[in-house]
Amino acid sequence: MVPIRGGSPEMEYESVIGLEVHCQLLTASKAFSPDSAEFGAAPNQHVDPVSLGLPGTLPVLNARVIAFAVRLGLATRCEIAERSSMARKHYFYPDLPKGYQISQFEDPICTAGYLNIEADRRIGITRIHIEEDAGRSLHDQDPVRTLLDYNRCGVPLLEIVSEPDLRSGAEANRYMQKIRQLVRYLEISDGNMEEGSLRCDANVSVRPKGSRILGTKTEIKNMNSFRHVERAIDYEVQRQITLLIQGESVIHETRLWNDIAGQTHPMRSKEEAHDYRYFPDPDLPPVLVTESDRAAIEREMPRLPDERYRDYVQTLQLPEYDAGILTDERPVSDYFEAVLDALRSSHSNHSFSDQAKAVSNFIMGDVLRTCKEKDVRMADFPIAPERLAGLVHLRMEAAVSSSAAQVLFEEMITDDRAPDAIAKERRLIQISDRSALQPVVDLVLKENPKQVNQYMNGKESIVGFFIGQVMRRFDGAADPKLVHTLIREELIRRRS
Ligand code: ADP
Ligand code: MG
Repeated sequence: MVPIRGGSPEMEYESVIGLEVHCQLLTASKAFSPDSAEFGAAPNQHVDPVSLGLPGTLPVLNARVIAFAVRLGLATRCEIAERSSMARKHYFYPDLPKGYQISQFEDPICTAGYLNIEADRRIGITRIHIEEDAGRSLHDQDPVRTLLDYNRCGVPLLEIVSEPDLRSGAEANRYMQKIRQLVRYLEISDGNMEEGSLRCDANVSVRPKGSRILGTKTEIKNMNSFRHVERAIDYEVQRQITLLIQGESVIHETRLWNDIAGQTHPMRSKEEAHDYRYFPDPDLPPVLVTESDRAAIEREMPRLPDERYRDYVQTLQLPEYDAGILTDERPVSDYFEAVLDALRSSHSNHSFSDQAKAVSNFIMGDVLRTCKEKDVRMADFPIAPERLAGLVHLRMEAAVSSSAAQVLFEEMITDDRAPDAIAKERRLIQISDRSALQPVVDLVLKENPKQVNQYMNGKESIVGFFIGQVMRRFDGAADPKLVHTLIREELIRRRS
């Protein structure tokens, strides 16, 4: 392909981005020792001898770490290695007391998968491997000193390495969001970027449009916000294009993002990069995933968000907007499905897609609003799915008005009886049965001949008077729309 000439010179370049994402796993204990992996403890509370690499200690790989890696590998359609090994990656740093990090090198547990960031936009995943985290160095300014917190030493991570398939900061942002969504669905990580559970190194290069050769890349280290990832990449792409247009070249180096300055700046050049002297860790046996291990993990996999989304749009015929909100987080999607299941087993003449839309409306409106206002997580939402289904049913059958449904919903948050019991007690049930209303309509017209006459003489607005009379006899519990219809029908019949 020949680059298109004639636009601005910048238009003739495309950006190429590959991400290395580190994801902290939600195991109770560390990767190689029974020490707690909990986030947020006071400094140096979880520092057992294995985490510190004291002489005479031996690491033992936490089986859950393997299971979590396989879950993510299956979810991203990777090949799962039946046998992979742990390696030592050597470097010296004060927050790495062993002098090496246990990781995987030549034979990672998962390879050659992909992730869709849109229905028709597939990003290749080169590999996913298991490793341990290092400690944290806290650099003080006044006085100038470095404090070390070893709690994080040995906390399990998965590193997810993408192919250089991303083409913009926005795509990289989207990719990170999809990873976060996935690890949360799989319940292997909280995906909490602020706490550093998801961190990302972005590899960025540019090349003439149409070229298939990769340009020289820079690597922007350790970003922990979606916005930073996007801004840093867009900045870096622009910086590299400007260099090339000016006839200069991009230097292979590691850079850091400064969000306040809105710039990346050099950290170290790759020429002085470490030689990690990888070799297989002699203390750790190979990681084995048998066919039956794999099958057991596969059986426990939840339905994934993309599949749910497709199902909601195609089968349930929900708007894409609804499907996006409902599948964003697994507890919301699980709740939606549980409510819909319960509603389907109640007697109704409504179609499945009408039922789905009614449930969706309740969840996107009242339920999510309540969670936000009361700061409760969806998993702790006080109205059980069967009870919300009861409320949706009452509303769909017009047994309660929309304003009564609101009142009932609020009551149900603190009153855990069945919705119809609460509705009856609070007199929220709406009478929308023609055979109950018709005799009262007839009676009201019979008792008010003067007003009927006024209507016959053209005073349409008198209908409001009749509605009021009927409603009063039902203590306001009649369906006002239906009362209106019945009165009009009757008056029109009498007029002709
Ligand atoms: P390194 O040895 O420097 O870590 P790798 O080949 O292991 O490089 O790749 C690391 C990440 O960088 C991967 O996500 C990969 O897709 C990405 N990558 C490799 N080459 C380029 C390039 N020229 N431009 C952008 N990303 C790249
Ligand atoms: Mg790298």
